[in-house]
Amino acid sequence: MTAPPTAEQVGERLTVVRGEIADLGVDPHAVTIVAVTKALEVQVVVAAHDAGLIDIGENYAQELVAKAESPEVAERPDVRWHAIGRLQRNKVRLLAPYITLWQAVDRLALGTEIARRSAGARVLVQVNVSGEDQKGGCAPDEAAPLVEELRELGLSVEGLMGVASAGGGATAAAEFARLRGLVDTIGLPICSMGMSGDYREAVAEGATMLRLGTVLVGERPVR
Ligand SMILES: *Cc1c(COP(=O)(O)O)cnc(C)c1O
Repeated sequence: MTAPPTAEQVGERLTVVRGEIADLGVDPHAVTIVAVTKALEVQVVVAAHDAGLIDIGENYAQELVAKAESPEVAERPDVRWHAIGRLQRNKVRLLAPYITLWQAVDRLALGTEIARRSAGARVLVQVNVSGEDQKGGCAPDEAAPLVEELRELGLSVEGLMGVASAGGGATAAAEFARLRGLVDTIGLPICSMGMSGDYREAVAEGATMLRLGTVLVGERPVR
């Protein structure tokens, strides 16, 4: 396994990403960058935090909890954990004490459990804009009604999240444009879209939040 990146290395990569955002004519500080540390050691969370990234995304419940409870991270109480992966209802109770933003809420049953374990929690509705079955998310035309139902549960619905088809380019751009259109139609502040392979397209289409793993913290081991 390769050594985890140092805070300096993460910081250099972050500078490159922010430079690219600026080159697209967008204020880099208007875009929240979530560092995705799934499948990497807790030292990677520490390096990202020391580089100034306090928003950290994880996909797997046990892994997130183990990292959040590790002494190195407990010393950094301003870390904000984002649950970005497909989530089973039975993991909500375990995660609830740690999560700042539930990014992958794609069905009412999941929202009901989040509201039960974490009243008033901040959530994003995940929308399947690529149309691929294996990607999570509700259908685009279900997004607005789901936002409404989640609000009725007392949740703070702050935006939408989406994952584009692999490969970036025009296909991803069109999917991002669709997500941004929904965000605007519903009238929400957060548009979480764009990963390492397609964040430029996402920024160009109006992302307010990027979820970046590989470009910031390096390759993940194959699971
Ligand atoms: C893994 C993951 C990311 C980050 O992926 P990279 O390509 O490494 O930037 C972002 N969002 C979600 C939902 C993910 O599962």
